[in-house]
Amino acid sequence: MKAHDGLYIDGAWRPAESRDVIEVVNPADEQVIGRVPAGNALDVDTAVRAARAALPGWAATPPAERAARLAALRDVLVARKDEIAETVTAELGAPLQFSQAVHAGVPIAVAGSYAELAATHSFEEKVGNSTVLHEPIGVVAAITPWNYPLHQIVAKAAPALAAGCTIVLKPAEDTPLTAQLFAEAVHEAGVPAGVFNLVTGLGPVAGQALAEHPCVDLVSFTGSTTVGRQIGAVAGAAVKKVALELGGKSANVILPSADLAKAVAVGVANVMSNSGQTCSAWTRMLVHRDRYDEAVELARAAAAKYGDRIGPVVSAKQQARVRSYIEKGLAEGARLVTGGPESPREQGYFVSPTVFADVTPQMTIAQEEIFGPVLSILRYEDEEDALRIANGTVYGLAGAVWAADEAEAVAFARRMDTGQVDINGGRFNPLAPFGGYKQSGVGRELGGHGLAEYLQTKSLQF
Ligand code: NAP
Ligand code: MG
Repeated sequence: MKAHDGLYIDGAWRPAESRDVIEVVNPADEQVIGRVPAGNALDVDTAVRAARAALPGWAATPPAERAARLAALRDVLVARKDEIAETVTAELGAPLQFSQAVHAGVPIAVAGSYAELAATHSFEEKVGNSTVLHEPIGVVAAITPWNYPLHQIVAKAAPALAAGCTIVLKPAEDTPLTAQLFAEAVHEAGVPAGVFNLVTGLGPVAGQALAEHPCVDLVSFTGSTTVGRQIGAVAGAAVKKVALELGGKSANVILPSADLAKAVAVGVANVMSNSGQTCSAWTRMLVHRDRYDEAVELARAAAAKYGDRIGPVVSAKQQARVRSYIEKGLAEGARLVTGGPESPREQGYFVSPTVFADVTPQMTIAQEEIFGPVLSILRYEDEEDALRIANGTVYGLAGAVWAADEAEAVAFARRMDTGQVDINGGRFNPLAPFGGYKQSGVGRELGGHGLAEYLQTKSLQF
């Protein structure tokens, strides 16, 4: 894999002040595949200054020109799709086909959507005797995780660029090569120097320095609730705007009238894809007691079929974390239906696709985000019980409802405390706002709502 030994700041790859490096490991075979700089607070400061200096020019660039750069960026991502997929597979471990379709495919769709939104959004509106200007919020600190390494970067960088903001990105230490590839793509797309800057580095060093930097106007963070809380506190103290995309423990609610086989098959696939490392995964399956045993058997068969097709989790640390949750499930009395804590292979950070039945709402595996290929199946008595269980966690990121009648599913979805619900297996929509209720976050990404996060209004009265 190609790795830059510098940081992308002010339109060029420059040596870091810091001498520290991050070794990038392929989780499928545990081999080091590249080394990148671990930037420090000085490096972050250089990058933020570059972004600050580039802000007036980019903010004043006509939206049509910003749209043209975004369209060019999308075209570069299309041209380099195979390279993107191979890089994500090498550093995250996702199967190549999934990397092609999702890890490369979704960011292309999102970049394209913002090329269009930049061209069509009204950056001015009339309200009575006022003209309201939608102005860029300023310098954006983007801090991203490793689970959808390119998507999470593009979901922040594309609307920020469309809005006229400038950016400093601190990507996850586990997946910096994908971030470097994105910086190359931004460069190739002709985005002016300083508008987008990349500092690879560690969370508590580069990430923290970036979130705390006084010249940053908005901190947009995706990752764990623990770190999100700290970032929210830092931003609050400095009166900076903050957007937080945090964890989830989403419910897949299968109402009694649903097509059970389909609901279970799609539900298991949703949890196992990307080795369970999806913040919006439906990791709790809720089934009526009359159909419970049938659902458990269907889920067991579906998960067992995954066997060898599932990729590793991202790191040894993540593997240990997921295995400790599986052990906790066993210790708290859940019934292991398939999978388990033992590593299925000698080499690589693999976890067996795991299904637990007889999971009760208070168990740790029904409450906490595991971030691995682990499904918990819970039993409900009636619809009110299902709703209580579905809403009974601190999270509210996503979910699913299945019923014979779409209106019945929608009626249930309206009562769920969550930011997104798929009705009878609805398709992903790159324009639909994505984000959490409750402790799943603050703010929304994607589409017009995602763009609005990067804008602030100024009212002129006449
Ligand atoms: P994380 O620590 O929250 O990492 C997210 C990003 O924040 C990374 O770029 C990380 O850098 C950075 N970071 C860490 N500490 C920071 C700090 N003090 N100040 C500023 N930035 C900081 O998440 P993780 O360690 O990768 O994963 C832990 C758990 O979080 C997972 O098991 C999962 O449950 C959850 N998670 C959720 C999502 C989601 O999409 N909701 C995504 C990933 C993880 P480093 O990469 O150097 O740590
Ligand atoms: Mg971390």
